[in-house]
Amino acid sequence: MYKKLFIPGPTHVRDEVLQAMARPMIGHRFKEYAELQAEATSKVQKLLYTENPVFLFTSASSGVMEGAARNCIRDDKKVLCAINGAFGARWHDMILANGKEADVLEVEWGQAVTPELIEAKLSSDEYDAVALTHNETSTGVMNPIYEIAEVMKKYPDVCWMVDAVSSMAGAKIEVDKLGIDVCIAGVQKAFALPPGLTVCSVSQKAFDRAKEVKNRGWYFDFHLMLKYYHRNQTPATPSISHIFALNKQMDDILAEGLEAHFQRHLDMAEFVRDWARRHFALYADERYLSNTLTAVVNTRGLSVPKLNQALAEQGAVISDGYGTLKGKIFRIAHMGDLTMDDMRWLTGLIEGIWNL
Ligand SMILES: *Cc1c(COP(=O)(O)O)cnc(C)c1O
Repeated sequence: MYKKLFIPGPTHVRDEVLQAMARPMIGHRFKEYAELQAEATSKVQKLLYTENPVFLFTSASSGVMEGAARNCIRDDKKVLCAINGAFGARWHDMILANGKEADVLEVEWGQAVTPELIEAKLSSDEYDAVALTHNETSTGVMNPIYEIAEVMKKYPDVCWMVDAVSSMAGAKIEVDKLGIDVCIAGVQKAFALPPGLTVCSVSQKAFDRAKEVKNRGWYFDFHLMLKYYHRNQTPATPSISHIFALNKQMDDILAEGLEAHFQRHLDMAEFVRDWARRHFALYADERYLSNTLTAVVNTRGLSVPKLNQALAEQGAVISDGYGTLKGKIFRIAHMGDLTMDDMRWLTGLIEGIWNL
């Protein structure tokens, strides 16, 4: 039986989107492909309120996160990694694994990275870049990028790399207004497509920086991508099926209307938060709650694996806590193509199973 995914990635994929993926194949050097890439790209630019090139990488988000580090950090310079959960910590590991030097700004899990904390670090003027996780999927904290952007604007030589993997398409991110240099998201989260494609906007500042970096690699080299981008192609063979699906999904998101689309995410978030406060407690700082997933403290000490077994029989699945938080919290995603009806259905099932 199909289990509807209330986990923070991959998320539930609609049949219409799966069908778009099943379209007959075309060559990646055909005119039809260039038209498809151009169309899909321009729609994602609308979503991100940006005129920056938007690259479509056939990769998990992690690949592009490594790529961003290789393009935006010079060998004799450092990056500041802001960490308030598992995904920020992982990005730091990736950056070190690529031979880059990094300092860490560590914040307690469940808390947010604030503009004040970033500013205190940047004032030392030793950084080439900042790596920030917009939405910490491990804790349900959404970092305040609009406020952080005001600080970043005071440091025009610092490249701002944002992991927006679990927020892009679920929360408004105005890339140009914010001045985000590299904004990354895999399509398996709020885009609600099957995993395998990553969207990434790149600013002129990031391209200029990349020119000064020697070993950018090949597959994720922003300048090689840009050369092909001008022809609406990619250097290597892309997952064309994904791009068919992205193009279809972007049509539907734009037809819903961006404001309505983000509002639906917020409505679902508020519903789940209220429910969680009534029966349990919220893990994240109330001021910085995520619009795309809610981390609920397991105050009753109930078994999350058993809950999922019971939910599976009804056709649903949620997420346990991530890593060390397993059993201590559980996470409900409310992103992509999920609806208020889905949230009512899911919370009703949990109430029934746990006799809340
Ligand atoms: C899911 C997720 C990732 C990892 O994405 P992959 O596509 O599996 O590489 C990174 N960061 C955040 C915030 C995520 O939610």
